[in-house]
Amino acid sequence: MSDETRLIHAGKLTGPLARTVGPPIQKGSTVLLPDTAALYDDAHHLTYGRAGLSAQSALQDALAVLEGAVGVSLYPSGIAAISGALLALLKAGDEVLVVDNVYKPVRRFCDHVLKRFGVTVSYFEPRLAPETLVGEASDSVRLILLESPGSLSFEMQDVPRIAALARERGILTAIDNTWGAGLLFRPLDHGVDISIQALTKYAGGHSDVFMGSAAARDPALVRKLADGIHHMGWAVGGEDAYDILRGLRTLPIRLARHGESGLKVGSWLQGQPEVARMLHPALPSFPDHALWARDFRGACGLFGFTLRPASEAAVAAFLDTLKLFGLGFSWGGFESLAIWCDPQLSVRRHAADYGGPLIRLHVGLEDPDDLIADLRAGLDAYAKLAD
Ligand SMILES: *Cc1c(COP(=O)(O)O)cnc(C)c1O
Repeated sequence: MSDETRLIHAGKLTGPLARTVGPPIQKGSTVLLPDTAALYDDAHHLTYGRAGLSAQSALQDALAVLEGAVGVSLYPSGIAAISGALLALLKAGDEVLVVDNVYKPVRRFCDHVLKRFGVTVSYFEPRLAPETLVGEASDSVRLILLESPGSLSFEMQDVPRIAALARERGILTAIDNTWGAGLLFRPLDHGVDISIQALTKYAGGHSDVFMGSAAARDPALVRKLADGIHHMGWAVGGEDAYDILRGLRTLPIRLARHGESGLKVGSWLQGQPEVARMLHPALPSFPDHALWARDFRGACGLFGFTLRPASEAAVAAFLDTLKLFGLGFSWGGFESLAIWCDPQLSVRRHAADYGGPLIRLHVGLEDPDDLIADLRAGLDAYAKLAD
C-alpha cells in the first residue's frame, strides 16, 4: 500500500476505551457502522455524528436527572433553545403568549421571526393573574412562555397555577428557567411542559461556553423537540458538552454559595440610603416573595435594585467606580458582574416604574464582604453626584 493509503488507515483505536471519570470526548461527523443492515437502522444505531456522541449523550442523561425529564434536547446557545423549542411547536395561525419581561433576545426572535411565519405574539404583564391570563387567552393560543423570576426586573408568576389552567385548555407551557438552573426550581415537577435553560450561565459556570437545553416529560413532546433540532440541522460540540457536564458536578455547591452571598449583599444594599428598592425574590420585602418561598429551594446570585433617582452621570459614576464587579451582559459564572438596565426596558409593552435607575448584579464567588466594600465605594461616588 502507498503512504497515502497507509496514513489514512493507520492510527485507529481498536480496543475498548479506558474508563475515565468523565465521558470520552468523541470528535466525529462520520459514524462507522458495523454492517449493511445497520446503515438504515436508526432505531438501534447512531448513524451520523450530528445527533451527538458520547459527551453530548452523557450530558443529556445528567440533565434529564436534574430536570426530572424523560428527554432533553441540546442547542448551541440558550437563545437557540428557546427559539428552537418555539419553532418545533408552533405553526402559522397559532398565537403565543409571552411574559413581558422575557429575556430581550427572545422578544427579538418572536417579533422578527415568529411573526414573519404567521404566529401571533402577545406580551402579558408579568404579574397578570393566572385566571385572567389563561381565561382570556384566545382559542388560537398554543403556548405560553414564562420566565420567573423574569429578566432584569425579577417579577414572578404563579407557575404551577398557570401550568394547571393551561393544561385544562390544551395550551402548552414553557419556561426559561435559567435563574432556577434546574436545581432551585424544577418546572416539570410543577406541571410545566417544557423546561428551558441557558446552560451558558450556571451550568457552565465559568463564562466560557454557550449551550441551551429544553427538557420535557411527555414522550411525544420530547420527540417533537428532538425532531425540531434534526430539521434545523443544529449540533453541539463534544468539548462544549463536556464542559457543561463538568460544570454540573459542582452546580449545587456553587449555587448555594452564589445564593448565600447574594442574599448577604442584597440585605446590606437594602439598608443603604442611596438604594430605593430591592428586586430580590428571597428578600421578604419583594412583592413576589411568597411565590418564591413556596416554589423555590433557594436563590441564585442574580438580583436587581434601584437607586434613588439621579442623573445618568451619577449611575455611570457608580458603575465605573466598581472594581470587583465587571460590567457585562451575562451571569452565572464565578465572577461578579453589574449592568444598568433602563435602556433595555423601553421595549416592554407594559411599562413599569421601578422607582429609579435599575441596576442588575450578579454576585459571584468572591468574599461577599469584599463585594460590599466595592459597592459602598460605588455608592459614595453616586451620592456625590446625586446631591
Ligand atoms: C443569557 C440568557 C439566555 C440566553 O443564553 P445564551 O446562551 O447567551 O444564548 C436566555 N435566557 C436568560 C434568562 C438569559 O439570561
